Formats: sequence, C-alpha cells, structure tokens
Amino acid sequence: MLNIQENVPLAPMTSFRIGGPAKFYVEVKSVEELKEALSYAKEKNLDYYVLAGGTNILISDNGFAGLIIRIKFSEIKVNANGLVEASAGTPLIKVVNFSAENGFTGIESLAGVPGTFGGAVRGNAGAFGTEIGSHILEVTALNVETLEIEKFKQASSDFSYRLSIFKKDKKLIVVSATLNLETAEVAQCKAKIMEIVMGRTKKGLQGAKSAGSYFMNPKIEDEKILKDFEQEKGVTARNGVVPAGWIIEQAGLKGKTMGGAQVSENHTNYIINTGSGTAENVIMLVSFIKQQVRDQFGVQLVEEVNYLGF
Ligand SMILES: Cc1cc2nc3c(=O)[nH]c(=O)nc-3n(C[C@H](O)[C@H](O)[C@H](O)COP(=O)(O)OP(=O)(O)OC[C@H]3O[C@@H](n4cnc5c(N)ncnc54)[C@H](O)[C@@H]3O)c2cc1C
Repeated sequence: MLNIQENVPLAPMTSFRIGGPAKFYVEVKSVEELKEALSYAKEKNLDYYVLAGGTNILISDNGFAGLIIRIKFSEIKVNANGLVEASAGTPLIKVVNFSAENGFTGIESLAGVPGTFGGAVRGNAGAFGTEIGSHILEVTALNVETLEIEKFKQASSDFSYRLSIFKKDKKLIVVSATLNLETAEVAQCKAKIMEIVMGRTKKGLQGAKSAGSYFMNPKIEDEKILKDFEQEKGVTARNGVVPAGWIIEQAGLKGKTMGGAQVSENHTNYIINTGSGTAENVIMLVSFIKQQVRDQFGVQLVEEVNYLGF
C-alpha cells in the first residue's frame, strides 16, 4: 500500500539544500511500488518526477506541483552468475565498497561520487577517467508507458559523456544493473578507494551544499583558447574538451556571488549554496556565468545539473 504524503519539503532531500515542497510525495521500495506510483499519477492526472539521491538537481523555490516518486529500493548481491548486481536506489558508494569487498575492480575511482547507483547509470557518472557505463553489463529499466521491464546490454545503452539512453528517453526508469568487473585483490581495491576518498575530502567540496559540477565540460573550437589552456595546464585538451571550471575562472568569475549562491573558490565549476541560497539566486548566477562565458569566449555552457519545477 503506497503512503502518498502531501506538501513534503524537498530541500533536505537534495545536496544543494534548495527547493520548495512536493505537492505529493511517495517513497517506493520495490519495482511493484514504482509501478503503483506511476499508475496513481496517471489515474489522478498528475505530473510525476523520479528523485533518487538528489545530488544532481536544482529544484525550484516553488517546489513541484505533481508527485515526487523517490526511489528507495536498495539491494545488492553477487548474483548466480557471479556478477555484482544492484538495484537503482543503492547508494553508489555501497556498490563501490561491496564490489571491492568481493574482490572486483574497475569502479573504485567512483568512490566519493554521491547519489544512487540508478542515478549514476542514468547520467553515466564519471570521475578520474572512469565512467560507470564502461563497467555495465546489463541495465534493467521500467518502461513507464507499458509498465513492462526492458533489458539493455551495454552496447544498446548509448553511454557517452554524462549521457545514456536512460537520460535521453524519458520513458525509461533504471531499476537495477549488473556490472562487468575484473577480479583483483580485496586489499588493493580498498586501498584505491581510500586514496580516492581522501583526495576528494582534501578538496573540501564533499560537504558543501552543491550539486557537484554544474556545467558539462565544453568542446572548444577556438584554437587560441585551446592553446591558452594547454600552455597554462601543461596538458593536451583531449578531443578539444576543456574543463568548464577553467573557462569560468578565465572569465573572472571565481567566487562570484549572487545572494546565497556562489561560484566556489575551490572548484569554479561548483556553485555553492552559502547558507541561505535560493533557486532564484542560483539561476541568476548561472545565467550570468553563461552570458559572460559566451560574451568573452564565444562558448555556450550547458548544464550537467537537472532542473525540476521551473
Ligand atoms: C559533492 C558532489 C560531487 C559530485 N561529483 C561527481 C563526480 O565526480 N562525477 C559525476 O559524474 N557526478 C558527480 N556529482 C553529481 C551526482 O553525484 C551524480 O550525477 C549522481 O549520479 C546523481 O545521482 P542521484 O541519485 O543523486 O540522482 P538525482 O539527483 O536524484 O537525480 C538526477 C537525475 O536523474 C534522474 N534519475 C535518478 N534516478 C533515476 C533512475 N533510477 N532512473 C531514471 N532516472 C533517474 C532524476 O529524475 C534526475 O533527473 C557530484 C555531486 C556532488 C553533490
């Protein structure tokens, strides 16, 4: 039996700690409950939105006038074929740790990426050169129109930079996935995780109220910008892509503040809620950044963060 609640504050469910309430809210603990919630929304003619870890989203100050379906099913196991299989609501860090503890290597670099496994698969989360999509064997998704389960092998999941078929096709909700990992020494995997987590902690961003990198790293056509980047950083811009944070810094926007929203001093692609930030503050700052970067460099930044309720 679904427990549909009304007028539920959403800000505490996001890493930004921003956003108004959901008119209707339900937590689903199984695929059956997910189907029930979708049927409920259809029956009542409500818009719905899937929320998971809330670490890659900006919710409007007015909240959302439909039904928030919060993915809460969280199971992880080594399946009958000896592969790590996890459901969508499992925290990604749990999947990373569980894999290591069972002697599987490949996704240690994703330790410290907050949020759920399903959210990571949908957005092809990546860090330090590793993307989750490269380690997926098969994804199980629910088709919201037919309420049937569909299976996608890695090759048909269309994984690319922060993109997958599950992000492109709004009909699909990730419910679980199986990983394709190599075997390795448990101690070695755990040491790598420790190193990654410590490195991220040192940067001082893990606890900040943000949604991680706000913009996708842009592909640059302008030779001068590429040359400046390569000279300053001493690295080659792979496929002409430069970090969005670098270009935002070049635009002189490090630390730029609007109300309670600020371009991080530590990582210029992070927008921080300094305490009393509102979605409006963030949107104004984002518009300013996009305009400045466009005017100064002719580069159009595109958000990695998802919007809800605007
Ligand atoms: C401090 C910090 C550091 C971060 N570092 C990284 C990083 O290094 N690399 C990186 O890639 N990201 C990073 N992120 C961003 C974020 O952690 C990832 O995008 C994460 O995978 C989002 O998962 P989530 O469960 O929180 O998704 P949510 O924020 O809840 O949802 C994001 C979007 O995915 C959709 N969604 C969620 N679950 C599902 C599902 N099961 N099926 C279909 N759609 C779904 C939602 O509708 C929404 O549109 C960081 C964020 C923070 C706050």
